[in-house]
Amino acid sequence: MTRMFDSPDAHKFTPDSLEAGSDPFALADPLGESRYRVTPRLIHQYSNRALLKTTGRCFGYCRFCFRRAWIATNQDFIDEAELASVLAYLREHPGIREILISGGDPLTETNDRLDILFAALREARPGIVLRVCTRAPAANPARLTDDSIALFRRWRPLRVAAHINHPKELGGLAGERLAACVDAGIPVHIQTVLLRGINDDAAILAELFQKCLNLGLTPYYLFQLDLAPGAAHFRVPLKQGLAIYAELKSLVSGLALPKYAVDLPGGGGKITLHEGAIAGEEYRPEGRVCLLKGPDGKLWPYPAD
Ligand code: SF4
Repeated sequence: MTRMFDSPDAHKFTPDSLEAGSDPFALADPLGESRYRVTPRLIHQYSNRALLKTTGRCFGYCRFCFRRAWIATNQDFIDEAELASVLAYLREHPGIREILISGGDPLTETNDRLDILFAALREARPGIVLRVCTRAPAANPARLTDDSIALFRRWRPLRVAAHINHPKELGGLAGERLAACVDAGIPVHIQTVLLRGINDDAAILAELFQKCLNLGLTPYYLFQLDLAPGAAHFRVPLKQGLAIYAELKSLVSGLALPKYAVDLPGGGGKITLHEGAIAGEEYRPEGRVCLLKGPDGKLWPYPAD
């Protein structure tokens, strides 16, 4: 039987009564993706890249997932008609040079269907970079078979963006299979969500990112939590996150240091976080907020606590 969780932190996938607590900051669509939706499954927020929700299925359902409203629909893999609208959009927008193959988790689908998808995307936009976003290494590392890696090789330029939150998620088969991707010439970028009670400790994060480096994986982003409903108990206060990141900097080399970032709630875009990113604080009816300067120059509120 396939081992579903390669980590003792399986509670990240297990519902908790804390999820029923009220959070005045929660947003049904934390990243404001609906503002940038150009076909039912294609999100085009940044000029040079777009994100495709291939499926509503995952190997394990992260309790802090910002896309939980979409996941709850349990949508099947993208069908021909939906894909046709995506391909037409790509043909009309030559500025899109990279596509994030996301979901849900695209690796819940078979390699044959992924092959067809990749071929269609490349036909519509020759040379487009495919970024496969997956949680499989942590939730079902056996999915990264030799055949899967051969598929990735066939469709280079292709990169894997793996969601890994704890050094224990890189143990055993997970680390082995990700290293096998790198050995096969597939760059692997690691994205981590800062989670209270799980990895809100500079030493744990240092161990994680050092392990990445040793395996040949690239630490990419450390994300401040998005404001998904029912996830507030995982949120690390922003200033505490900055202090953890400052300590992390002293523990690892630049090669092992991901960018600390947040997607501004409601669709303001991604910004990197540092002391200067907080332009001020104020009280709102929902509670105390930090004001973060967005790429548009506007101030966007994010809960302070
Ligand atoms: S694997 Fe990704 S999309 Fe699926 S529940 Fe976890 S965070 Fe959400």
